[in-house]
Formats: sequence, C-alpha cells, structure tokens
Amino acid sequence: MKIKCYECGREHRDAAYRCECGGLLEISHDFVGLDPERLKRTFHERLSERMTPYASGVWRYKELIHPELPEREIVTKYEGNTGLYPAEPIRRSLGIRQLWLKAQSENPSGSFKDNGMTVALSHGRSIGYRRFSCTSTGNTSASLAMYAALAECESVVLVPNEKVSANKVVQTLAYGARMIRFDGTYDDGIRFFEQHGGGLDLYICNSLNPFRIEGQKSIVYELAQSMNWKLPDWIVIPGGALSNVTALGKGLQDLLQLGLIERMPKVALVQAEGASPFHKMMAAAGETLIPERSPATVASAMNIGNPPSWRKARDFLRESGGVTCTVTDEEIIEAKRLIDGCGIGCEPASASTVASLRKLIAEGTIDKDETVACILTGNLLKDTDILSMYEQGDESSFDFASLIGL
Ligand SMILES: *Cc1c(COP(=O)(O)O)cnc(C)c1O
Ligand SMILES: [Zn+2]
Repeated sequence: MKIKCYECGREHRDAAYRCECGGLLEISHDFVGLDPERLKRTFHERLSERMTPYASGVWRYKELIHPELPEREIVTKYEGNTGLYPAEPIRRSLGIRQLWLKAQSENPSGSFKDNGMTVALSHGRSIGYRRFSCTSTGNTSASLAMYAALAECESVVLVPNEKVSANKVVQTLAYGARMIRFDGTYDDGIRFFEQHGGGLDLYICNSLNPFRIEGQKSIVYELAQSMNWKLPDWIVIPGGALSNVTALGKGLQDLLQLGLIERMPKVALVQAEGASPFHKMMAAAGETLIPERSPATVASAMNIGNPPSWRKARDFLRESGGVTCTVTDEEIIEAKRLIDGCGIGCEPASASTVASLRKLIAEGTIDKDETVACILTGNLLKDTDILSMYEQGDESSFDFASLIGL
C-alpha cells in the first residue's frame, strides 16, 4: 500500500495533505495474490461476525481497504451493513425494470460519511494523532465527532453559520465536538485547511484525506455482495464535494480488476441545480472546474461550490461512460416525498437520485429495460427544517371520534 499523488504520481509520507504540485493524494494497493473466489468466501463468512471488527460493513472488506492496519487499531460502530430495498411504487411509476435503494442513511450517525470516517479516524489514531478535525455541512462533523468520542479522542470542527441543518449541529455537539462556526461556506473551510491545516496538530478528515475514500469504497462492495456480485446497469449517486462518486469509481475499478464483477456499470452523478459546478463543466466538455461563489440548494449536504475531488470524478466518469445531471429543489422535495412515503426515507440530498431518474429516462439516457440502484446518503431525521413540508394544515386535520365511529 502506497500513498501517491493523483496528478503526478509522486509517493508521499503519511498524513501529508496535498502534493506540492497541488494534486490530491490517493491510496494505491497492489492486490497481489488475491483470488476472487477466496475473497467472496471470506466476505460471506464474515456476515456471521457479531463483535469483531469484521462485523462492520466496511472492515469486512479490510483486505481491499486498509490491509496493513492492525486489527486492534480499528475504531468501529459496525457501520455499513445497510439495507438494499426494492422501491416498488417508485419503480412502477417510472416504468423501469428494476429499482433498488441502498440506504446508507442507516449508518450509525445517519449518513454514508461513517463508511469513510471509521477508516480515516482509525488510521489517524494508529499513527499517533489524538485530535481530529474537518469542515462540514454537518454530516461529516457528526460522523467525525461520533468516532472521536468512541475512541476517547478530541474533535474540532468548522461549520458554516448558515445553510446547515440544526439537527446536524446538535448531533455534532452532543458527541462532544468543539465547534467553530464561521461566516462563509464549506469551500471557505476547505481553503482554510489547505492554507493552515499542515501546521496544526490535527488529523484532518475531510475527503481530501485518502483514507476516507478507501472506506467509502465499501458502499459499492457491499452493494455488489448483496446482489451476489452482479451489479445493476446503473448506479445513481448525489454529488457535493464529489468524494462519494470518487470512491464509487475507485471501488468499481477494484472489483473489476480483482475479477469480483465482470463488467463496469454506468454511473449517473446528480447535483442540485443551485450547486452544480461539476455538471456544468462536464456538460460543456470542459477541462477545468469553475467554482460557484454562492451555491444555494435545499439539499444542504450538496451545497458546495468548489468540490475538491472534481478531477478524480471527471476522469472516472469520462473513462467509464458515466453521465451527470441536475435537478431542481422542487424536484428534490417531490422525490423525497416518494422515498419517505415508501417507508424508506432520506434527507433531501439523497432524494436527488430518484429525482434525476425521470429526466434520465425521458432523455433516453437510461432505458426502461435497464436496472438501477440509487445510493441514499443521509437519514430522514437529519433535517427537520425540511420536514416542515409535512406539517398538517387545517384542511388535513380530521375528527378522530367520527373516524372510529363514535
Ligand atoms: C456528504 C453528502 C453528500 C455529498 O457527498 P460528496 O462526497 O460530498 O459528493 C450527499 N448527501 C449526503 C446526505 C451527504 O452527507
Ligand atoms: Zn503531485
């Protein structure tokens, strides 16, 4: 296992932040001597683990994520292990062959950030760090604070004053994080770390941290394992900082390289219209991302104007024949109603996936004969501001007594 610059290939020491050339770092595995049938058997056997790190839906795949980490260093809450649901009413209304929703919302802190954070925190602690930090629109900070508390470590988080759900703030504080609120956006927080992070005695757990990406690969490993190593034609995923789609791409490449799957599915990356710099670049076949200064969307987890991982995401989508698209806030809320109404539920950012399907089908990108899995990234209870959309008006109140026949 090596840590390399994604841009120039230079090898780096541990806990470096970015390469001198400005490139992001990446973990590179050699995966020698790994036999696909043996791996499948091992991953299957670990499904019966209860109290060991291998009961985690991340560490079950340790050989592909962080083979060198000693088991005793693992800080886990048995993250992953999330449900994969057929959303039959939504599938019927779209008229497609098969639709699955992978509920990363069921993670211990309520978002997929746990898949990556268990690895970043375990690794950082194993190399001697006791203080962990990130900037966040709320879910990364909640996840970081949870694992830091579990490991008896400290967390210091930077959270914008505005456009962050109060629930995520409360959750982060409840786990004991020291929180610094600031006037600015997530992008400003990232810039602060890029300029000053290296000089602080903090282990930074934003998605610039390559171990986060390694952990997030487990989402597609688990999806593949649940589907008996036959992935659907399409995987649809929301994008803000673009760490999740980057991890999805890297995970898929691992699966293909190792012979665990036979073909590469297509990936659709969805952004909210008000925060869609990556989609704009891809749609214009541009080479560089033009940051958006004031991103604005109801899907606060995707309210990011300058996504750090855009190069990795761009290369993966271009090489694999993936697509990008945008959805409006209204479409997000409408899709959220459908997902909630199925009994699955999610936060607004996650609903962008289902929202995009109608468009992708209408424009002929996704064929009705194809199969689709959408990644639901965050939990329904993450955002109670948005839940006010369900508040009952007078017209929907009813007379209980008459209902039960009195
Ligand atoms: C972080 C997050 C996203 C965006 O993922 P990126 O890796 O930043 O692209 C989407 N939905 C939810 C709920 C999130 O927490
Ligand atoms: Zn470099």
